[in-house]
Order: sequence, then structure tokens, then C-alpha cells
Amino acid sequence: MAYERPNITALSAYVSGEQPADGRTIKLNTNESPYPPAPKVLEAIATITGESLRRYPPPTAAGFRAAAAQVHGLDASQVFATNAGDELLRLVLTVFTDPDKGGRGIAITEPTYSLYRVLAGIHGASVTATPLDEEFSIPSTWATTLAGSDVGVAFVVNPHAPSGRLESLDTLRGIAEALRGRGVLLIDEAYVDFAEQSALPLLTPDSGLDNVLILRTLSKGYGLAGLRFGYGLGHPDLIASLDKARDSFNTDVIAQAAAEAAIRDQADAREKWSLIVRDRALLRDALRARGFVVPETQTNFVLATVPPAGPDARSIYEDLKAAGILVRYFDQDRLRDKLRITVGTPEQNNTLLAALDRILKTEKV
Ligand SMILES: *Cc1c(COP(=O)(O)O)cnc(C)c1O
Repeated sequence: MAYERPNITALSAYVSGEQPADGRTIKLNTNESPYPPAPKVLEAIATITGESLRRYPPPTAAGFRAAAAQVHGLDASQVFATNAGDELLRLVLTVFTDPDKGGRGIAITEPTYSLYRVLAGIHGASVTATPLDEEFSIPSTWATTLAGSDVGVAFVVNPHAPSGRLESLDTLRGIAEALRGRGVLLIDEAYVDFAEQSALPLLTPDSGLDNVLILRTLSKGYGLAGLRFGYGLGHPDLIASLDKARDSFNTDVIAQAAAEAAIRDQADAREKWSLIVRDRALLRDALRARGFVVPETQTNFVLATVPPAGPDARSIYEDLKAAGILVRYFDQDRLRDKLRITVGTPEQNNTLLAALDRILKTEKV
């Protein structure tokens, strides 16, 4: 197209998991929660009136930010509300990279969330990609590499997608220290609700770090992927920088009300997280019993290597799809022999396992 910027011409757009409209498909492909949001979320949406829609919303989602700050033991000045996690990622690129004259770009480890590359492409920011180690762990040399580089933002998904692996606080601290004074470490905690530990301790003043931003989203853990609400946590100076670059009213009044109700109802959320964590272990064991290799995961999905003797991952994905079950297949290095499967309800997981038994022609376990 003659009208667009050259970097847009060169861009391959982000490809999201399929979203069938039929309502019958068992969707285990995009890591949505299998459970609806808390009843209080729907009650909060029901309180929206014509009058509240007539007016502009609170520009920085003050009510939500106060609630999130309380939940996380932070100050509201350390919370930044966005139109879901993806908007935060876009703003981080806008604010902390510098495409001019080949300036500060981004650093990623691969495989990772594919949106990072797309956002870099949109912004014309350079990408330095480092392969993850064998077990999808961050190479111990990465921090040293970053220390000598001109990186504006390093992105770490933790727990990692698509492997589910959790990196230690020490590893994250080392990366942030290597970048301090020059670049920001964005820790993407989209799946932290299902993990044993978060990077929040890196935000305390005694950590001595001023360059850590944590991404959170209500899409996965709160059953609200359709709402589009996420937030960033970090040093007040980082939040102030992001605040300069956001849309004047980047979150709407309905989303703010729903998100505040969701984050205030930690009891409801925790109950659902524990069901998913319980069923994750059952799904992992059941897949292992069928010959899949399934590493430990701290997320709401498993990354399963298909049994070597049977059909390949792509054809299992196709057969499951024909049976009305969607899982995620990545036609990508290191992932072609694997399926990423979201943990569903017990009933959905059992339907998946029964379909796999038919496809693999194994004995029913
Ligand atoms: C889902 C996800 C996000 C954010 O998703 P939103 O729906 O935009 O909040 C960010 N990072 C990773 C790795 C994700 O899987």
C-alpha cells in the first residue's frame, strides 16, 4: 500500500487464537478462564446509568487504581490502568524505545508472546532476540548481554508463555540490575494468578530498583478477557512517563466499574484459581499417562509434547478441532511437536482426554 509507513508494510500482524462464534466449541486455545467473572462484576455493570455514560470516565481510573493498590500493598501512584495488557505493552514501546537513528530497541527471549515483535515492528524499534535454554529457562548470560547493550525495554513473560515455567526472583533481579539506569524490565505477569510467586517484591523501595514494570491483566485470572482491562505496577516515575503517552480516556466507565469490582472480590478469584491449579495437575498427569511429555507449569495451560510414536502435533490439533475442541498449535521452531492446552472445567478436560484417546487409539485409562 502506497499510503502506509514502510515499517507497517513490512509488518506481519499479530495472529490471535481462533474465536469461533458457534458457542459449542470447547475453547482450550487462548487461555481464557473457564469460569465466569464474580457475580459482583455483573452487579457493578448493572449499576451503570445513562448519566454515567453521558459523562467522560475518570481519566486514570482512580477507583480501580486505589483498589488494586490496596490488594497489592502498593501506593496508587504505582498503578497504571489500561485497556487490557496489550495496551500497556504498546505504551511501553512508545515510551521506552527510541526508533530514531537505530536507538534503544527491545530485547526478548524466544519463544515468547508474539505480540512483542509486532509492537516493535509498529514502532520501528529494533529487536534483539535470545533463544531460551533447553527447558525454556532464561540463559544465565542474558543479564550480562543486556548490561552491554542499548536496550530500552527487556520483556520477560513470567510465568512463561508458552512453557508455563516460572523464573526466580533472583534471575529477574539480575536482569533489572543489568539494565538499571538505561532500560526498563517489563515482567509480563499475565498468568501470575496461577503461580506460586510474583515479582512484586522487586517494587519495594529496598530493592533499589527503579526500572521494573509488572504487567497484570484481568483477561486470564478474572474471567474477563472480553472486558479489555489490565494494569501496570511499577515505580511512580515509570507510571508518570506512561501516563503522558496514554489516550486521554483509555479505559471506559463500564470497564472501570467491572474491573474494580473484580479486583475487590479476591475471595471469588482465589476460589477459581485454586480449581484451575487443581485441575492443571490432573490434566498434566492424564496427558503424561497417555505418553505426552508435560513439564511443570505455573500457568492455566500446559505445553504438551505429543507422543513420538503417534500422529504429529498438527494432525492432533486438526483432529481435535474436527471434534469441536480447540487447542493451540504453533507452527514455529521448538513448538511444532507440542500443543498448548488451556486448563478447562473438569468436564471440558475429560472431553479433551476422551477425544485424545480416540485420536491416539490408546486404551481408555
Ligand atoms: C493474555 C496475555 C497478555 C495480555 O492480554 P490482554 O487480554 O491484552 O490483557 C499479555 N501477555 C501475555 C503473555 C498473555 O498471554
